Parts: sequence; structure tokens; C-alpha cells
Amino acid sequence: MKQIFSFLLIFVLSVSLNFAGTTELNKPENVIILVCDGMGFNHMYFSELLTEKNGIKPASREFENICLGLNYTSDSLVTDSAAAATAIFRGSMTKAGYLGLNPEKEELESIGSFFKNMGWSVSIITNTAYYDATPAGIYATSTSRDDTEKITNDLIKNDFIDVLIAGGLEKLGVNSFTGKLKKNSSLNALAENGYEILGINFSYLLPPKTTKKGTMAFISMGNMNFEDDKLEGELAFSEVVKEGLDLLDNDENVFAMIECGRIDDACHINDDESLKAELLEFQRVLNFLLERFPTDETLFIVLSDHETGGICLNSGFPDGTNILFHWGSFDHTASYVPILVKGNGSELFRGIFHIEEIFPNIKKIFE
Ligand SMILES: [Zn+2]
Repeated sequence: MKQIFSFLLIFVLSVSLNFAGTTELNKPENVIILVCDGMGFNHMYFSELLTEKNGIKPASREFENICLGLNYTSDSLVTDSAAAATAIFRGSMTKAGYLGLNPEKEELESIGSFFKNMGWSVSIITNTAYYDATPAGIYATSTSRDDTEKITNDLIKNDFIDVLIAGGLEKLGVNSFTGKLKKNSSLNALAENGYEILGINFSYLLPPKTTKKGTMAFISMGNMNFEDDKLEGELAFSEVVKEGLDLLDNDENVFAMIECGRIDDACHINDDESLKAELLEFQRVLNFLLERFPTDETLFIVLSDHETGGICLNSGFPDGTNILFHWGSFDHTASYVPILVKGNGSELFRGIFHIEEIFPNIKKIFE
């Protein structure tokens, strides 16, 4: 009897150990990364406080896994958006200012190619210009984030983008007064690589000049305007995100990187009103994304690349009224950044880790 019991115990133990060792993660059908450039924890709290009186849900409160991200570069405690984008989208810490390269200047695999190789669609949607470091970190490589010519050439010859929505017409050979293409416009080269090209207000500029690979919309000359400075008829960023995702054939096997990139710009100039408007728009974008993609089939990662402005909230009421806040800096600061994760595969994101762990973690889900 004792022998049978021991045998049973060993059997049960070995089965359960085996099970634990081979437990499969539920693989997501979509992976959505929302990068809030410059948003520290105080910004995020501020954005939540602003939602109530504006009648929207604080979407960032709906995340079950909240992690602390380290973001230092290989040569600096304080990162810039280029090194941070390289860490997030290519899985390696690098030198400040480097795009897509490790400190030894070797090219790193992009999360865009990874998902394209899996047969997924790849979208990049930002309210900054296409050559800004965060979007460029996905498709460009350079030791200088300011090398717009190299970044543009890398965009032209990229082989994984299905949809790109950004600003930046000014660097693509478009007359800023008439909106017409100059003879040597880089938009022609993009069309030759198979892209349908849209311009301001998603107006049609060029058809693809070969088999259609995707759509690129450059909807402003430089960055898009701050949410509190929009011109008449100019879309809010949450509407831009919707227009961009509507360009996809379907909502399955979607990898999308969406960037609320102007929080950082508002902080660099310590602009109170634009910061509030951008933070509120972040909550609108996040609400939209959580509604658009089924939460039981999608991995959502919301994070910041670094804190900008060193803001602190000094006084106010919990309903978000009479908030008084102060700035501590015109630049990026060293601090933990929020990483909010939700959905299939989110169990792999726990605790404190460097943002370079994000891409390898995502890969693990699909191994
Ligand atoms: Zn910045």
C-alpha cells in the first residue's frame, strides 16, 4: 500500500512539474505599444486627474501589471529618445543619440521586421515627424538621430511598414506654401517602393508606382500641432490614430506602435496648457485602443521612454480641479518610467527591469 502511495505521489509530482515546465502562454493576436514620450509617473497621475472633469475614463487605471522601467543608456544616466527607442524596439541598451545600433555600431533586429516575418501587419502612428527619434528607432539606423537624410533613406528602403502616419512633409521635398511636390521629392521614391502617399488631412498625393506595399500619410509639415493649438479642421490625435488603423485590411495580427510624442515637446518648453491637453489626449487615445482591440486577444504595453520637465503636483483636489504644479527642468530627467501591461502574455512583465527587456520578452511569448 505504502509503495503504491509513493508511486502515485511521484507520478502526480512529475506530471505537475512537467505541466509547470511546459505551460504555454496564451499568444496574443495583436500587440499594441503606446509610447508616451516624456511621461513620468507624475505626468501619468496628472493625466488621470484631468479625466474626470473632461468626462472620460482614466484608461491607464485598467492595467493589471504596472512595472518600473529603468532607461539609462550605455554612456549616460539620462537617456534621449533615440537610445530609448533603440532599447525598446530593438532590445539593446545603446549610446545616447544612437538609432537602431548597439554601442559597437552593429545593427540590431527591429521589432517591425520581427512581426513582419511572422506575417503580421506593422503600423507606426505618431503625432511627431517621421524622422523623430521614437518612430525612426524602428526603421532607421544611425549614430546620429539628427541625420535626417539617412533616416529618410532608411524609410524609403524599409521592407516591413504597412501603415505610417506622421508629420514631416517639410523634409520630403514638398513646397510649404502650395503643398505641391518638388521634382526631387522623396515621396516619389516612397511611391516607387510601393507606397500610396497621403498628405495633409489625409488628402491623396501619389499612387504606389509598383505592387502596393502599404500607405504612408504625412499629415503635417513638421510635428502635428499641440492639442490646444489645433487649426480649424485639424484632427485630434485620437482621431488620427483611428484613421490610421482604419487603413489596415483587418484588425487581426496587428503590431502597432503609437506614439503620443508631443508630451515631451510641451515639457521641454514648460507649457502648462499644452501639457494638460497632450496628457488628456493620451487618455483618449488609450481609451480608443482598449475599445478597438479585444482585450482577451491583445497584448497592450503602455510606456514612457523617459521623464521630461521634472513636474511635481503641489496642490489641488482629487477630482482634478485647482491643480497647481511646478516644473523642475526643461529637459529629460533620470527616473523610473511607467510600464503598464495588459492582456495575453502580460504575465511576463513584472517588477523592475530595463526597457531593453521589452522586445526580448515579447519574442519569448511567440517562441
Ligand atoms: Zn525630449
